[in-house]
Amino acid sequence: MSEERLEVLRNNLDAIRGRIAHACVLRNRDPDDVTLVAVTKYAPLDDVHRLYELGVRDFGESRPQGLWDRQPQLPFDARWHMIGRFQTNKVRRTIPLLSFVHSVDRWSLAEALSAACAQRDRRIPVTIQANLTGEQTKGGFSDEELRQSFGRLVDLPGLDVQGLMTMARHEEEIERCRPTFEALASLRDDLAKQHPLPVLSMGMSNDFEIAIEEGATIVRVGSALFGDTST
Ligand SMILES: *Cc1c(COP(=O)(O)O)cnc(C)c1O
Repeated sequence: MSEERLEVLRNNLDAIRGRIAHACVLRNRDPDDVTLVAVTKYAPLDDVHRLYELGVRDFGESRPQGLWDRQPQLPFDARWHMIGRFQTNKVRRTIPLLSFVHSVDRWSLAEALSAACAQRDRRIPVTIQANLTGEQTKGGFSDEELRQSFGRLVDLPGLDVQGLMTMARHEEEIERCRPTFEALASLRDDLAKQHPLPVLSMGMSNDFEIAIEEGATIVRVGSALFGDTST
């Protein structure tokens, strides 16, 4: 049973890596420049262990509780990424578990993260989350807010601002996600005149190939990895 499950996950992982490689070929990119973060928020812990066994080292959770529960269960070389809404009162307990925060979506969180990291003589690698679709349900700085706050964000002593992150609107017709990814890449190009921003964290199960075509260096994939696609 668990051997079967391992095979399902191996096949899903191979398929996703193949799709990443293909999207890279289309744009003459090196597949090694795209990191796959396995989003484990809906996956049972056994599956997380199986992915580790299959060589995955980057795992993403969208809730602090998920990180508290899971980070201690995996070997130390697993890297944990916070990708979801981060309440400031959970920052202190969570940052020792984290390698990367994708979802710096507001000034108060940036300040709280920076203060907690600076106190430990640490600069945590982050991407700043941009909300380019205007959806109220999603966090993130608007284009204008981000341009205004950027100088102050990169000056925060506990943050190592490496790039930008966004989520496209969920679309049946995935081509319609492309303008959001193009917009993030172009915002990055503008802001990178002030501070280097090599990382673009964009693309999920539905739309990661298009995100890679538009320059994603990190894709965050959950359901395509854990779903049983063999049936
Ligand atoms: C859940 C989640 C993902 C992964 O979504 P899937 O569609 O399951 O691949 C990626 N990024 C964020 C911020 C998420 O919350």
